[in-house]
Amino acid sequence: MSETENRNIVLFPFMAQGHIIPFLALAHQLSQTRNNYYSVTLVTTQLNIPQVRLSLPPNSSIHVVGIPFSGDGYGIPSGVENTDSLPHYHLLTNFFEASLSLKPQFRKIISDLCSHANGRHRPLCIITDMFFGWTEEVAREFGVFNAIFCGCGGFGLACFYSLWMNLSHRGNGASMSDEISLPDFPEAGKIHVTQMSEFLRVADGTDKFSTVFRKLLLSWPKADAIVFNTVEQLEQSNGLAYFRRILGKDVVFSIGPIFSPVARSEKTTGITSEKCIQWLDSRPKKSVLYISFGSQNTISASQMMKLAMVLEASGKNFIWVVRPPIGFDINGEFRSEEWLPKGFEERISESSRGLLVRNWAPQVTILAHEAVSAFLSHCGWNSVMESLSHGVPIIGWPLEAEQFYNAKFLEEELGVGVEVARGVSSRVGHKEMVEKIDLVMNIGTNKGGEIRRKALKVRKMIKNAVKDEDGFKGSSVIAMEKLLNTAMLVSEQRNSI
Ligand code: UDP
Repeated sequence: MSETENRNIVLFPFMAQGHIIPFLALAHQLSQTRNNYYSVTLVTTQLNIPQVRLSLPPNSSIHVVGIPFSGDGYGIPSGVENTDSLPHYHLLTNFFEASLSLKPQFRKIISDLCSHANGRHRPLCIITDMFFGWTEEVAREFGVFNAIFCGCGGFGLACFYSLWMNLSHRGNGASMSDEISLPDFPEAGKIHVTQMSEFLRVADGTDKFSTVFRKLLLSWPKADAIVFNTVEQLEQSNGLAYFRRILGKDVVFSIGPIFSPVARSEKTTGITSEKCIQWLDSRPKKSVLYISFGSQNTISASQMMKLAMVLEASGKNFIWVVRPPIGFDINGEFRSEEWLPKGFEERISESSRGLLVRNWAPQVTILAHEAVSAFLSHCGWNSVMESLSHGVPIIGWPLEAEQFYNAKFLEEELGVGVEVARGVSSRVGHKEMVEKIDLVMNIGTNKGGEIRRKALKVRKMIKNAVKDEDGFKGSSVIAMEKLLNTAMLVSEQRNSI
């Protein structure tokens, strides 16, 4: 390889914590590949830069480039450049729409990189978010290889993509069926209307959300590749095959799981890792239920109250990451006297049965601890991968987007969990939830034992996929090499014309 060959990889995540986190992990991994052979440029909007920098290891070689963004004219309050600071969930439509306006600025960044002295910064490839499929046009204009990186699993995303692109739950456009099969992904089985987000349920292709959102997904088939933060062997249920069909070629790469190199600054967490570990150390092995709804979700006030009662009735130890419920400022103060049963926090603290963590917990540290038995999760894909990498079974409570299909995948395809509730308006069945928590955490029962055995099997599968030692390369390592080689090849072909 000569000095002038392209080694710059441009990454461009959507402005949401759950998207930026896996992109940072990808950036870190790429910057370490082949003894720092590649340079990595991560593009994000100005206000996201400080958090991005905090999440990179000290002395990281990753180059962070700001892209100007303005939500003015789209109804986004000034200063909001991340979905986690959107004051209202319904502004998501406007936020997506505003994100489309990034195109000219993104084009300028790529154009500048391509025309930089002697072309040394010319991108080898652009890896963009699943919501930035439109970057394909910019990449093509400059002859650069373009891949979409999905921090999701193949099965969940295939269901999600199929539902949005076909809107088949709308039947003939007038009536809506309760349960449907996906016309281009029948392998997924039945999808029930309760497994659809509110946006999807009402979408008919002409409403504002679906018009904007489908535009974001439309260009996927034109991408040079789609990259998943998953493991090929886990995805036997044809989710990846679905995307291979859509693209019409085998350019779907499973390179996961990749994890963020740096935990969130302790200033912004509700508890230090040390305190968490100290508390977990005091609990017996495999006795703790960890509960979290991801980086930006919460449940309703009545669900929160019921979940607290379930936890008390279950008799299990637990760590619960709490945030103000739906309808309140999610970043505001958590008022336990209002949203939890009277005396709940004092009781669980006195008995050392539970730990309430405000807003943010060191999740990976918790999942890695031997005291943790199961994870009650919203089934966001990062959480799924983090849990399964430690062999921790998942009790699913999906809330939105493809989380519903991740939960289905975990229960029906992998057998590593059960679902206990769905969405923010579902009823929390007290008895049923206590029983299901017990079922998963009680490994003495046939079912509980089987779920744990399967979770451990998946952990092994994941370990093997990322292994790169003694001449053995796991499937994710090989997929990453193939992706970069394909980018190199395509880049050479395009630029020799
Ligand atoms: N996370 C964390 N502590 C929390 C909540 C979330 O560390 O209290 C991290 C978690 O480890 C994961 C990410 O935030 O890496 C959440 O991503 P996921 O895909 O699970 O859900 P999302 O937030 O995108 O809905």
